Amino acid sequence: MSISWTAIQKQRLQELNSSESQQEMCFESHQERDRAYQEQEHLLVVKGKQKLLELRDIKRRPSLCVLEQQLVEALTQKGFTQVVTPTIISKGSLAKMSIADDHPLFSQVFWLDSKRCLRPMLAPNLYTLWKDLLRLWEKPIRIFEIGTCYRKESKGSLHLNEFTMLNLTELGLPEDQRHQRLEELASLVMETAGIDNYQLELTSSVVYGDTLDVVKGIELGSSAMGPHPLDDQWGIIDPWVGIGFGLERLLMIREGSQNVQSMGRTLTYLNGVRLNI
Ligand code: ATP
Ligand code: MG
Repeated sequence: MSISWTAIQKQRLQELNSSESQQEMCFESHQERDRAYQEQEHLLVVKGKQKLLELRDIKRRPSLCVLEQQLVEALTQKGFTQVVTPTIISKGSLAKMSIADDHPLFSQVFWLDSKRCLRPMLAPNLYTLWKDLLRLWEKPIRIFEIGTCYRKESKGSLHLNEFTMLNLTELGLPEDQRHQRLEELASLVMETAGIDNYQLELTSSVVYGDTLDVVKGIELGSSAMGPHPLDDQWGIIDPWVGIGFGLERLLMIREGSQNVQSMGRTLTYLNGVRLNI
């Protein structure tokens, strides 16, 4: 007979960030299973408490903030300029991204009133800045933002309602260098995040059409390039590349965590450690 964890046991082990192999364990009897559960739970609680002490006594900053800082350092060193733009954006700027009432992303938008919403992405603001910077700086224009984005998601282990996006863009590069550049940018971000063995996969996005995704078991980032049909709306004609990553997903994969919630803005976890231990 092969007995696995009860649903409640399994859920608790997941909350405590048990490994996949721990979650797949099988037993000969219920008694053996329940004894193993006590043991595993105890070990995970001890480990969680140790991680919290390490946070208080050594690290003192959540991994999310540390990763953000590491990315800022790596990108500015490579000639990218950081920008900080509003989290409240207009309905008009969403419409310019083709996200109007009939669009799949539209229903995921948090509206503040009939004209303003919380940004579901960074791209509209970056497009707006491009237009002015094209006048003020010579090409290529290299800017990035790291900031919170908001989407109504039906809860899952990969989706947060508020998450931290990095969007990295380069405008005005030679058209024949776009692919290679995207690969370089993906590699820079993944190296900084401490993740190797990722894949680049061609998929299709509801906003950008065909996109090159960065994948390691799950989607970590999505890239796009122009000239692109949306460019007209913003008065952009130069070739560009852009790539967006969710920082919580990067941490989840690097730390081997079971759910993205533990890495994000939450009162249930502290730096990946469940607090009800
Ligand atoms: P998915 O298909 O997984 O829902 P997406 O293609 O809608 O993601 P993009 O618009 O491409 O996401 O956003 C770029 C990146 O932002 C994603 O690759 C992912 O890492 C991250 N991301 C997007 N939505 C969320 C979310 N709700 N919670 C956490 N991270 C997210
Ligand atoms: Mg995507």
